[in-house]
Amino acid sequence: MYKKFVSYISVAFLALSLNSFSSSQAAEFISIGTGGPTGVYFVVGNSVCRMVHKEAAEGRKSGRKHGLRCAAPSTGGSNYNIGQIKEGELQFGVAQSDWQHHAYNGTSKWEGNQYSDLRAVFSVHPEPFQLIAGKDSGISSWDDLKGKVVNIGNPGSGQRGTMEVLMNARGMSVSDFKQATELTSSEQVNALCDGKVDAIAYTVGVPNGAIGQAIDGCGASFINLDSSAEKKLVNDNPYYAFANIPAGTFYKSQSSDATTFGVMATFVSSASVSDEVVYEVVRAVFENLDDFKKLHPAFTNLDPKQMITNALSAPLHDGAVKYYKEMGWM
Ligand code: GLU
Repeated sequence: MYKKFVSYISVAFLALSLNSFSSSQAAEFISIGTGGPTGVYFVVGNSVCRMVHKEAAEGRKSGRKHGLRCAAPSTGGSNYNIGQIKEGELQFGVAQSDWQHHAYNGTSKWEGNQYSDLRAVFSVHPEPFQLIAGKDSGISSWDDLKGKVVNIGNPGSGQRGTMEVLMNARGMSVSDFKQATELTSSEQVNALCDGKVDAIAYTVGVPNGAIGQAIDGCGASFINLDSSAEKKLVNDNPYYAFANIPAGTFYKSQSSDATTFGVMATFVSSASVSDEVVYEVVRAVFENLDDFKKLHPAFTNLDPKQMITNALSAPLHDGAVKYYKEMGWM
């Protein structure tokens, strides 16, 4: 009994001292929601973590000891990330500009579930919505999707939401397809190349390895999306813009230019994440932006002035504003 008592006391003491150790180090864990492991969001999240850890790694003699520890797991994508930020499960996430807009305003998929504490941090790369048909699918335009097996994407992904918006604009529903599958972004290219699905949709930065695998690896091709339906979407909504993927530039076997509409990838957080944490994350990214840009070719044209203004519909987080003002950008 006495022995037991002693060991309880020492455990309690140990816990107490560990506690005071960690608070003096101010270690704080943050998680960033990304997308499928073959997408660009996964690179965005992990590149942000890399910049956050860069100077502050344990044991470094110099650099900023902010104590933040960062992880960026693969997730279901934009709407999943925003939902998990709302639940407090994630502190940051990458999300398409259309879904940032809808979540903040409580419109579209977010009707009745408005998230007014959503905060913009910065925008990242452009993401064209890409509709891709398999080699032997017989699909060369949107209307050819009728009677085919179409992967509309996993629930929670940005492309799933945008595909639903487009289907609505085009007056089409899943019952017009032979089958609508819900494969994730990392599963769908193999299914396309194996002929299990006839077409896939993916809102993703250019270039992307999975799209390359479809176009260069198994002869798939882009379907143009530039009809009056897409023109109306672009005209009516500030978060859409037309985008062009030039022939033979990013994907060798792409024989003609592809025209489609697209969004921007954005980095978002919550008003309930502290200003200090957001400030440190933003500072780490912008002070190391040249290194950040080298981590993916879709980041080549990133420019701070545009990143803090373009495609952001939720208010900027106060912690981000503090840094942008210090830099004289606002
Ligand atoms: N835009 C996609 C989404 O919102 C993710 C693209 C990516 O992973 O790069 O789910």
